[in-house]
Amino acid sequence: MQNLPFYRPSGHEIEIAEQAVAAKLPIMLVGPTGCGKTRFVEYMAARLQRSLVTGVGNDDTTTADLVGRYLVHGGDVNWVDGPLTRAARGGAVFYLDEVVEVRREALAVLHPMADDRHRLFLERCNETVDAEPGFALFCSYNPARSIGFKELRAAFRSRFVTLALDYLPVADEAKVIEREAAVPELVARRFAEMAAALRKGIGERGVDVPSTRMLVSAAQLVARGIDEKTAREVCVIAPLANGGQTPPEALRELVAAL
Ligand code: ADP
Repeated sequence: MQNLPFYRPSGHEIEIAEQAVAAKLPIMLVGPTGCGKTRFVEYMAARLQRSLVTGVGNDDTTTADLVGRYLVHGGDVNWVDGPLTRAARGGAVFYLDEVVEVRREALAVLHPMADDRHRLFLERCNETVDAEPGFALFCSYNPARSIGFKELRAAFRSRFVTLALDYLPVADEAKVIEREAAVPELVARRFAEMAAALRKGIGERGVDVPSTRMLVSAAQLVARGIDEKTAREVCVIAPLANGGQTPPEALRELVAAL
């Protein structure tokens, strides 16, 4: 297989997802922000040789945002497919990030897409779309932010093969940083160890912890000549402190103790 995006697995998620898709089962990824959920879906879509259509859920996401809407253009009124409909017609992988944020009524259109009917009903234009073979549904949410989790009705949740993803162990996360930012192994390792210490030190208090994405960004700055301390400050300490939950001094102390 050529040109697969780089994805370092944390367990058997690749094999499980492959079999789930073959069985027409939808997949729910549960994990903290920046832990590789999006990259995993990109990897799976490429591995399955399907195109990928993504949508991000928020509390403004309406049914129309997913399925499509009529738009007026130069006096004509035309139906324009939304991302879910495009994925269904194209036999593509559809990935909906932050699914818990999506409103109930918008979630309802996903129901028949989450079982093996893979059927979409476009109420507005009274059309039923049976997804082309190849369609697969992936959703995700971050458990720390899922105040709305209970809102994801049990009937909906129970349809999904649910995979818990998390930040990788130090050695694996270092490999990701090294590869993504093209930095020497030792630099990558230092960032990964710092993250592990911060997650241990502040994670217990239920506040934001460094994500793999932050570490990759910091390492990218180092690869471009910024010193490690500054990169750490601007990509990790400051974003975490800006959340207002943890004073930057406490974060620096944890790093200094390494
Ligand atoms: P999420 O969707 O969980 O918020 P992403 O998939 O966007 O996170 O990951 C953020 C970045 O971290 C990616 O662009 C990639 O550089 C890196 N990354 C995180 N986890 C992995 C992994 N397991 N394999 C490869 N890259 C990863």
